[in-house]
Amino acid sequence: MALIVQKFGGTSVGSTDKIKAVAQRVLKNHRQGNRMVVVLSAMSGETDRLTGLALAMQHIPDQREMDMLLATGEQVTVALFAMAIKEMGADAVSLLGDQVAIRTDNMHTKARIHSVDPDLINKHLDRGKIVVIAGFQGVTDSGDITTLGRGGSDTTAVALAAAMRADACEIFTDVEGVYTTDPNVCPQARKIDYISYDEMLELASLGAKVLDIRSVGLAKRFSVPVHVRSTFSENIGTWVVEEDKIMESMLVSGITYSKNEARITIKQVPDQPGIAAKVFLPISDAGILVDMIIQNTTDGRLTDMTFTVLRRDYDRAMELLKKVAADIGAQAVSGDESIAKVSIVGVGMRNHPGIASTMFQILAKEGVNMMMVSTSEIKVSCIIAEKYTELAVRALHDAFALDKDNLPAEEAE
Ligand code: ADP
Ligand code: ASP
Ligand code: MG
Repeated sequence: MALIVQKFGGTSVGSTDKIKAVAQRVLKNHRQGNRMVVVLSAMSGETDRLTGLALAMQHIPDQREMDMLLATGEQVTVALFAMAIKEMGADAVSLLGDQVAIRTDNMHTKARIHSVDPDLINKHLDRGKIVVIAGFQGVTDSGDITTLGRGGSDTTAVALAAAMRADACEIFTDVEGVYTTDPNVCPQARKIDYISYDEMLELASLGAKVLDIRSVGLAKRFSVPVHVRSTFSENIGTWVVEEDKIMESMLVSGITYSKNEARITIKQVPDQPGIAAKVFLPISDAGILVDMIIQNTTDGRLTDMTFTVLRRDYDRAMELLKKVAADIGAQAVSGDESIAKVSIVGVGMRNHPGIASTMFQILAKEGVNMMMVSTSEIKVSCIIAEKYTELAVRALHDAFALDKDNLPAEEAE
């Protein structure tokens, strides 16, 4: 008898008919003798709808109340799912994050899980029930409801699988697995059979929303193999596993894009020690994350600094910087919200120079200008104008031949 954690995303539970179909699938696994723990998202579009309601009430919604509101989306699907199972003649119980005791810190709307208590779940499983748990939510030590950030139901599922030492953790979604790039943008995208935790972490952090980055971090930390697969077929999906379990490492395994960022430039600042700290301290004090930073070298006296922030933080960051600019005697602050970050990722890059320059050539051939570049051991990211995102993704996918096995030369021999 295996213990299986299965998570179904918003599109998979987007209507009462889809919830019934998912219930059938889970019930089949249950009837085969498995102990089933199911994690559900809210119906597709519901979290956005709730966010819209909040914004109609308050310009910047109170974060605690926002979590009270957002958590309702998942409460609906788990209750409906349990009803569907009962209608099919089996037994199920729905539980919210606070009932399970998914304990988090108190960072409302982006809380981190501290601990999960499997006792209550085990009691229900022992009584033969299918246990249905609301994803994306938890509770602080003082009893306040929290949510884990967009896509957080993936993290609920992996945290439960780790805490309960589940035999399998399956993330069911609306595509067949993790692809070489977003299959909804590039029809040539190919499903990847196995991907390492580190590559998946990079892909998730750079925009591949198929798995929430925190879920991948947890899976890596607790060595939980994760199977990402389709709700709408029986096909094998993608296994996210340790790197040494993968036989072949592609040179480039994936291409991602993100339209969530904005660029800010602060012009002609004095080029002297302490200036960067003065620029970035107010930004970090306001809880604004900075991604890429570039400082140009100029004539030695004055310099330009350019960096990126999340688009939702752009207005606040601009406001803060205008004040800083006046304090430090900078000439001007300018910004651009219509940018995108396009990245290539692959562990094969570690030992193979020249990947970045190939990427630059491909973009140049398409006439796409790069505004900023950043690299790490296994990724290269470029900031480009947002309108070229899809073109860049398709051109890179094609030129790096991601629709085929692009093994490094010596391994392909
Ligand atoms: P769910 O609601 O099931 O959690 P998400 O919408 O969060 O689903 O994630 C699935 C979506 O992620 C896909 O529909 C696809 O458009 C997008 N996506 C982006 N990059 C990738 C990728 N590399 N592989 C697969 N899907 C991707
Ligand atoms: N419902 C939440 C969201 O839309 C959490 C999730 O689906 O994982 O982001
Ligand atoms: Mg998701």
